[in-house]
Amino acid sequence: MILEKYSMGIGDRFGRQGAAQLDAFLRAQATGVAITPVWNKSNREHQIIGTKPSDTRRAADQAVRARNWGGAYYVDADHIGLTNVGAFLEACDFFTLDVAESIGRPPDPADLAAFTKAQRRFIGALSVTGLDAAMDITAAKLEQVGKTYIVAVKEAARLYRYIAAAKGSSPFVVEVSMDECDTPQSPMELLLILAALAAERVPVQTLAPKFTGRFNKGVNYVGNVAQFTREFEMDLAVVRYAREQLGLPASLKLSVHSGSDKFSLYAPMHRALKRFDAGLHLKTAGTTWLEELIGLASAGGDGLALAVDIYEQALGRFGELCKPYATVIDIDLSRLPALADVRGWNGERFAAVLRHDELCPDYNPYFRQLLHVGYKIAAEMGERYIKALARFEPMIATQVTENLWARHIRPVFLGT
Ligand SMILES: [Zn+2]
Repeated sequence: MILEKYSMGIGDRFGRQGAAQLDAFLRAQATGVAITPVWNKSNREHQIIGTKPSDTRRAADQAVRARNWGGAYYVDADHIGLTNVGAFLEACDFFTLDVAESIGRPPDPADLAAFTKAQRRFIGALSVTGLDAAMDITAAKLEQVGKTYIVAVKEAARLYRYIAAAKGSSPFVVEVSMDECDTPQSPMELLLILAALAAERVPVQTLAPKFTGRFNKGVNYVGNVAQFTREFEMDLAVVRYAREQLGLPASLKLSVHSGSDKFSLYAPMHRALKRFDAGLHLKTAGTTWLEELIGLASAGGDGLALAVDIYEQALGRFGELCKPYATVIDIDLSRLPALADVRGWNGERFAAVLRHDELCPDYNPYFRQLLHVGYKIAAEMGERYIKALARFEPMIATQVTENLWARHIRPVFLGT
């Protein structure tokens, strides 16, 4: 199972927007750019919403039928580990092996010795096409990378073998994620991690490193864009080298997690992808849920009342909602709009404050981040929320499609 060159992870928390999401991919297809949709949902999301991986599979299959989508598509067991992968085995054909927790754990000395022995071929000045300077890999650096990452690589291998044994002859795509940790991986570390994965025979097709800077949920990149761009280009060069020299799948590519809304990065990313003729997996999750809210608010009346209700409850449960996302959100409580003000807004105003348009003076990233993690409130509303999605469907679908197409697919994959 070969993952296509361009793919995009599209979360759909409540499983109702698949067809509207596909409409954005159909628009890309009409311009001659093929992008593969991947419906990703993590265990954390399933638990908060009360859904199962089979629900995601059903919603994906329904959307594909509704739009007569003829291309490939996948259902991603997003950020799974050995303890929770079981529930995803049947419904998923894409597995994101999250091994970030194992980073920095001291390895078994024998494993470390085996790693340094196998990879000592890289010691010296390693020239990689596309890099300005040769990589200077010393024995000490090699050992340090082993000490930091070998346990994580071994964990990925164990997890991969477990899934492969359980899936039998059913093919699946392997992603390895290391993004949910504290320290970014350097291009040299990325190279040695890929070499170690190759040695463990993990057929990784996409790897999500932690990049420099902050990738907060639902808002723009916070960091040095020039530095990110240099690092991204170096990583692309390393991935190309790994594909050609390490025996990893020819489809190997980078995955960018929390990839929605990173508007300042999209133009440099697009240029780099073109320069290296590289593929990309851009993973997004919660953006579509926010478009549901924007659609509901824009509809006015009951739709707006529901959106305001959700904000009211989210404010009251601020700590609880933010806790699981503490490392990927930055909310300044003092900048959140007062409930009394929000109650006085019309739908247009609510939508303008929530919608990620940095040129709009009403846009408030703190409001947006709080609602981003507030989907638990909507989940608890149950039928009331789901019925509203059906009732205001046309309004919502337009927002969902337009957001993916105009704000994400066009700048990242088409460069427009
Ligand atoms: Zn991630």
